Amino acid sequence: MYKPRVVISRCINIAPVRYNGGIVTDDFAKKLGQFVEYIDICPEVDIGMSVPRPSVILAKYPEKIRMIEPISKTDYTEKIEDYSKKMMESFKNIDGFLLKSKSPSCGVGDTKLYKDDLVHSVGKTDGIFARFAKTHFPYLPVEDEGRVHDIWIKRDFLTKIFTFANARNTLSNIESINQLIKFHQNNKYLLMLYSPSKQKKLGQIIANWDKVGLNETVKIYRELFYQTFLKRPGLKSHINVLQHIYGHFSDLLKSSEKRHIHNLLNKALDGKVDIKTVIEYIKGFVFRFDDEYLKSQTYLSPYPEELD
Ligand code: SF4
Repeated sequence: MYKPRVVISRCINIAPVRYNGGIVTDDFAKKLGQFVEYIDICPEVDIGMSVPRPSVILAKYPEKIRMIEPISKTDYTEKIEDYSKKMMESFKNIDGFLLKSKSPSCGVGDTKLYKDDLVHSVGKTDGIFARFAKTHFPYLPVEDEGRVHDIWIKRDFLTKIFTFANARNTLSNIESINQLIKFHQNNKYLLMLYSPSKQKKLGQIIANWDKVGLNETVKIYRELFYQTFLKRPGLKSHINVLQHIYGHFSDLLKSSEKRHIHNLLNKALDGKVDIKTVIEYIKGFVFRFDDEYLKSQTYLSPYPEELD
């Protein structure tokens, strides 16, 4: 597995740079650090704010959202926007963002937004750096340490960063159409999980490669590959994929084993059994029948199992 490169808020486990001089201790980010390369940023300190410092808030003005320090009324908007733009342009070969929740710079969707009286709250929004990350890298996962406590968000985040690290490394070194075919085959069920229609389109792009040549084919394929992962899959999508995988070896099973799989799939659909349990059960048969094609499917192990 290739090592993903993840942009992380510096106050998560790395340095005490929060407005109050604190640091956030996060076990998931710590564990993840054993498997990824972190690139740390602290937008507020990086634009010259001190530690500790008076806290800033986001306020909704008629023309745009501004970052203001309410006591002195200092406006940091332009500084933080320039910094964020410059950083986005400087990031190369990255696979995702893990940012600090609720922060006016880093929060992902849950940062308090105030009226321009700087007192009354009007809702929630992205921190300014997080907003730039989402706009500049629309296909990459941008999450915060609070959101990844949700098991589905966490699995989606992990799947994407490891899949994108693999795609980034593999697709930039394709020298023959067979290498691209192999990449596509290995990801078949993972692509089907996220979007069966795009998975088919990706296959068509490969089938027509001789019309545009290898380099152009890889370019078009890469673009659509990333787009495939835009929407987080639900339980039904997993069941669909598992039924396809089960179809590879169902003839070899005893009727009691078939019944048990159907039972597990129904329970998973009702939320009574974790889908991961069903995947592991199906994986057992893949190894038992030593099916090389299925063993190579990234769907069955999209990220290191220690992270689940
Ligand atoms: S949330 Fe972002 S800006 Fe605030 S201390 Fe952490 S890294 Fe710095």
